[in-house]
Amino acid sequence: MTIDVSLDTVTHWIAGTAVPPTDGPRANILDPATGRVIRTVVLGGADAVEEAVADARTAAEAWAATPAPARASVLHRFRALLHEHTDELASLITAEQGKTIADARGEIARSIEAVDVSLSVVQQLKGEYADQVANGVDTYSFRQPLGVCAGITPFNFPVMVAVSMFTAAIACGNAFVLKPSERVPSASVRLAQLMSDAGLPGGVLNVVHGDSEAVEALLDHRDVAAVSFVGSTRVARIIYQRSAAAGKKVQALGGAKNHMVVMPDADLDAAADALVSAAYGAAGQRCMAVTVAVAVGEAGEALVTKTAERANAFRVGPGNAASVDMGPLISEDALDRVRGALELSVEQGGQLVVDGRERPPPGAGYFIGPSLVDHVSVESDLYRDEVFGPVLSVLRARDLEHALQIVNDNPYGNGAAIFTSSGAAARRFSRGVLAGSVGVNIPIPVPTSWFGFGGWGDSRFGDDGLNYDAYRFYTRSKVVTQRWTEPTPGLAPHFVAAAR
Ligand code: NAD
Repeated sequence: MTIDVSLDTVTHWIAGTAVPPTDGPRANILDPATGRVIRTVVLGGADAVEEAVADARTAAEAWAATPAPARASVLHRFRALLHEHTDELASLITAEQGKTIADARGEIARSIEAVDVSLSVVQQLKGEYADQVANGVDTYSFRQPLGVCAGITPFNFPVMVAVSMFTAAIACGNAFVLKPSERVPSASVRLAQLMSDAGLPGGVLNVVHGDSEAVEALLDHRDVAAVSFVGSTRVARIIYQRSAAAGKKVQALGGAKNHMVVMPDADLDAAADALVSAAYGAAGQRCMAVTVAVAVGEAGEALVTKTAERANAFRVGPGNAASVDMGPLISEDALDRVRGALELSVEQGGQLVVDGRERPPPGAGYFIGPSLVDHVSVESDLYRDEVFGPVLSVLRARDLEHALQIVNDNPYGNGAAIFTSSGAAARRFSRGVLAGSVGVNIPIPVPTSWFGFGGWGDSRFGDDGLNYDAYRFYTRSKVVTQRWTEPTPGLAPHFVAAAR
């Protein structure tokens, strides 16, 4: 690969400072809206990981001993800096990831919410106390940090996923090594700078760039106590198995195939509005995107017509342009994957109602319009694979039980939604569906960060514990049972006198 040395190079952040780039391997970072190289990123291996983990290990000791309110103060200042730098961070996200500026700003807003929840960690660590469990014996519990934790993040949320991991881990008193997606690495370094500006001591948050080589070095490092991963199911399985084999705590969130069931009694205009934004927003590159609509009974024809009208009106263009509903895909490979999935879906019996291949905007970026494929079968590749692009499949179901069976037979279980005007149908669905997050007349049910987040089935391996639950993952509980018997009178006269 030829590297243009006149471009900016994104480098590791270790011990509170950017590491000058060396001659080692690098990857190009592309603007998905133009296909042009905008900068490069260094690709670290075992050496960079060793340096980052060693610094993190040293820093972790002092950080764990730092009083919890002082740790929280750093996050308070970081929260303010996220607000202040929202425009700058949103532009960075859009330049490398491609999503619209409005979406990117939304990502920063969710990141700020994640910091709020990490701040509540200070209270969550307080433990429990049981008085006089036996004569002169009390028992109390409290939670302690793990040491060095690692986070490996995907390309689609360069700020939010990283912030929710490292602020929670750091609030708990850990040091953190972040390995961001090599396709969107710049924002993570900016976040590390902002944490430093907020007063975080060097070494508590480190960023190592790289690909699977850097990840494997983290997974195998004996000083990394816990691994958080968000990305595809294929990689989540690897992370889970390798981390568990090394005896680490691990949470590995994977891919998804999120269904939205539309009952005949639903407001079909509202359902179609919800479908287009949930299926095509961010070009379908969201783990909580709705990729399958299950139309029940006579909802089918009207729902497809209304959704197709809206899909055709969805505006595709560069994320930083005004009046754009969705930007490009992340890469040429992603574009080929989506085009291939559409071609195969027709060969396997799907009816292509809206063909996104027909209207990419002019230019060299990785654009494709929204697609709608009706009468998709559960055996087809389009249904079984996560396409991760703006493609909505429509399946037909006889009744609610049939729809539930379709959803529950799918191996993924990230999110699921139902649109209906029946409370009983909504309740049956919410209780019976095999998914971690459920929406009722809400298409993308990402709960506020005050609740935990994580899928079921093939959408998550290992521990839960993102957002509200994160303090459990990033700490371990210690239970102390203590005996302090009252002294025998005469042996401790001052104590006895005081007690009287
Ligand atoms: P990905 O799995 O390709 O990459 C994620 C991270 O893993 C990156 O940092 C990458 O460098 C690293 N990686 C890639 N291959 C590896 C390997 N063989 N060994 C070790 N590490 C490896 O995912 P992506 O394409 O960046 O992101 C999209 C995926 O993430 C989609 O499947 C999406 O559903 C999923 N996702 C899930 C959630 C969730 O909450 N469940 C949230 C966001 C994204």
